[in-house]
Amino acid sequence: MEELEALAQQIKQCQRCRLAKTRTIAVPGAGPADADIMFVGEAPGMHEDQQGVPFVGAAGKFLDQLLGMINLSRKDVFIANIIKCRPPNNRDPQPDEISACEGYLKKQIELIKPKIIVTLGRFSMRLAFSGVTISRIHGTPKKVGDIVYFPMFHPAAALHQPRYRSLIEQDILKLPELLVTLQTLKADEAPPSPPEQLSLF
Ligand code: URA
Repeated sequence: MEELEALAQQIKQCQRCRLAKTRTIAVPGAGPADADIMFVGEAPGMHEDQQGVPFVGAAGKFLDQLLGMINLSRKDVFIANIIKCRPPNNRDPQPDEISACEGYLKKQIELIKPKIIVTLGRFSMRLAFSGVTISRIHGTPKKVGDIVYFPMFHPAAALHQPRYRSLIEQDILKLPELLVTLQTLKADEAPPSPPEQLSLF
């Protein structure tokens, strides 16, 4: 079995934290194993918990629209979450749940080797950013190792507060250029330079 799929099977049987007792189906993530772009949300909600697929509820519909704005669809990107099981009543994930689950996302990143990870919301932002607020840094890429992290507001924010919608749309529109820049750098075999020296960052 392909390694990513084997990992998904392992996640579906996971008993590492209390959420295993309340979930319906764990939601490992979905998308091609060689995706250049990975989106990482927070946690499955009610619909995701029932279907085992990430972002299928209202926030997911908006995410689909955002992908459409840059001529992408779900078949082009890998979509996952910080934690793989729904917290009861959609409460925030707790620190011990995040620690119990983080090995799975780490392994997914290792296997997929995305060029860009789009973090959706304040929880997944912590993959690469600390001591800052999402309001300040959304839409500003940061390179960590081989991966560029691109922080965005969570799409659900636009559903609760419409003023976030245009901010989120402006941010997603920056992605194609970011991807092209990274591909060009690779094609030209640009000498590795510290991220701070790339004008883009
Ligand atoms: N919100 C998330 O963060 N992830 C999902 O999969 C669905 C909603």
